[in-house]
Amino acid sequence: MIPATSQRKVKSSQVPAGEKFSRQMYEDLEDTLLAPYAMRSSQSYGRTHPEKEHELRTAFQRDRDRIVHCTAFRRLEYKTQVFVNHEGDHYRTRLTHTLETCQIARTIARALRLNEDLVEAVSLAHDLGHGPFGHAGEDVLAQLMKGHGGFEHNTQALRIVEKLEESYPGFPGLNLTYETREGLKKHVDPSGGTYGRRYRTLEADLVDFADEIAYTSHDLDDGLRGDLITEDEVEKIYLWHHASSYIRRKYASIQPVQKRRLIIRLIINRLVMDLIHHSRYQVERLRIQSVHDLRKIHKPILGFSKEIDRHHRELKDFLVQNVYQHYRVVRMTDKGQRFLKSLFEVYLKKPQVLPPDVQKRARQDGIHRAVCDYLAGMTDRFALDEFQRFFEPYERV
Ligand code: MG
Repeated sequence: MIPATSQRKVKSSQVPAGEKFSRQMYEDLEDTLLAPYAMRSSQSYGRTHPEKEHELRTAFQRDRDRIVHCTAFRRLEYKTQVFVNHEGDHYRTRLTHTLETCQIARTIARALRLNEDLVEAVSLAHDLGHGPFGHAGEDVLAQLMKGHGGFEHNTQALRIVEKLEESYPGFPGLNLTYETREGLKKHVDPSGGTYGRRYRTLEADLVDFADEIAYTSHDLDDGLRGDLITEDEVEKIYLWHHASSYIRRKYASIQPVQKRRLIIRLIINRLVMDLIHHSRYQVERLRIQSVHDLRKIHKPILGFSKEIDRHHRELKDFLVQNVYQHYRVVRMTDKGQRFLKSLFEVYLKKPQVLPPDVQKRARQDGIHRAVCDYLAGMTDRFALDEFQRFFEPYERV
């Protein structure tokens, strides 16, 4: 989390040349660099199962590393964002979406002098709870689990990091810090939602916005790439139009692909810069001086200016109508829903077909929850293979 240039600010007299690097040095650096309302790793409420602190890494850096090394994180590579994975190699997947979210979030965190490591941990974990086939997958699991505790991806992300990952002998889950886990409890609509449900840090609030900036810009890009929408249609959107007029003025001739990429970059940059400027203003206006002050405020703190918020909503509405509800997207994900439903029924009717570890979990948590966890954990392609194994007569099981 130390930007290279900031190291210059640390006086050489404070850190003797021969001194060995330690976590405490990093924690001191946080005190120097971070804003008073940023979450410091040394101030963390800690972990459910107490552990000795690491020699080199802060508590949040350790959280981030545990997330990157977990199974659910690797599965993001083959889970649908909007386009089903096998539709093409260049579309965003949950993994690339997660990485884009993380990069955007880190830039904003640094600019606002928030804790970049906490932001990184929360961003990398924010979509771990998504099942296969995007939101359609989530919807069908929610339907199937009605009356059995339901299904929601944020709750599922918590379940994964608190219970389902089995990497450590001493405890279930990843034993992440309290702040990282609370950061996963989102996320209503960041521009108007309630913030009372979680222990508030600006770091977690920030990830909600970075997530939105990432998906609106890359879904626009993927929508154009996949021919779901055309450049003529998106010219009607203010954010696109503004960027494309600028490019027309600046470059006499430019390749269409470069132009599209440049516009997307300009849109991201505009949203990010606006969020940073407006959020700084808000923090000052609300006189937020400490992490403690955040507890008393139950309305949005970070956010876009009114003008950009309006333009961003215009883009989101456009994407809902023209990309997420496009018949080709609906076909892709609807197919996925049918697979999930059929598999759910097969497993429920005859739990003996389930792998032993799932059967074991069914004895602990009930068959519905165990089957739901199993399905939610699947990648798109695993779900497709599994469907084939059950329903294709000549497929080997
Ligand atoms: Mg996301």
